[in-house]
Amino acid sequence: MNGFIIRNKCPTCMSKNIKEIHSVAYKDYPLKKYLLEYYQINEEDIRNYFRDARYTILYCDSCGLYFQKEIPPNRIIELLYEKWINPDFVYKNLVSKRAFSYYENLLAEIIYIIRFTKKQPNEIYLLDIGMGWGEWCLMAKALGCNVFGTELSKTRIQYAKKNGITILELGDIAKYKFDVINAEQVFEHLPYPLEYLTELSKSMNQDSILKINVPKDNKIRYKLKRMVNEPMKQSKYQIKFIAPLEHLNGFNYNSLVTMGKLAGLSPIKFYKNQVAIIQKPFYLSFAKAIGKSMIRKVLSILRKDTYIAFSR
Ligand SMILES: [Zn+2]
Repeated sequence: MNGFIIRNKCPTCMSKNIKEIHSVAYKDYPLKKYLLEYYQINEEDIRNYFRDARYTILYCDSCGLYFQKEIPPNRIIELLYEKWINPDFVYKNLVSKRAFSYYENLLAEIIYIIRFTKKQPNEIYLLDIGMGWGEWCLMAKALGCNVFGTELSKTRIQYAKKNGITILELGDIAKYKFDVINAEQVFEHLPYPLEYLTELSKSMNQDSILKINVPKDNKIRYKLKRMVNEPMKQSKYQIKFIAPLEHLNGFNYNSLVTMGKLAGLSPIKFYKNQVAIIQKPFYLSFAKAIGKSMIRKVLSILRKDTYIAFSR
């Protein structure tokens, strides 16, 4: 046995109304080629850790979630984030090379959030789940907010601590109440997203907000069929939406709303990105011409992610 954990029901709505749409062994082509090209992993690792494991995609007929049936155990997750995806490499090649527009967008979102809470920045408590290198927290801290973060990677935790971010263990979150909880590109990674969201909701007050942003892909079935020929990262058929080992859940808007309801949360109007984009001069004149509600609809179709905010 290689210790992969089996999920036999939908992890967001608990339905057993699920069907298999794709399945291939990790040790066979094209998954083996995918692992070797994507990660700093070798053939021996694949033999040792992926013996009988399969990349199997299930679809929930009740809420529309795509999800991986077999999920990697903790020892493989640790190897993945500390060795096969080398943190130093990520920092050097991605984090340190972020474009100015990346920080501009972070700042626009945080300013929107601060205004939305109608509180003084120093009264606002924010939690960033899976904060990575802590850029969101640092931006909010610069504006005077109280920032907390969680992160699994030891390298990233050390980096965030050096920058003055308070790190919370998962078990300690429930001891606090937060005005804002940020889950940017997190829920697609979680083995049990509904349980996790239910825990987080306990740290929310009546007027707290919780934001979730996850990848989106309307062509995933087509891509999975094409994967046999072209599974690789540069391909237009890349399967980032439910990437093997990493993106265990592939959400749509409905699956997020359904999960929120089961956790006692309701979606709220929260147009962060649309507002940020509309504020730019070109889009502003465009928006005036066709109307803001129309441009929001167009932008939500064009978006490469699914963005939602909840309150209790
Ligand atoms: Zn479901």
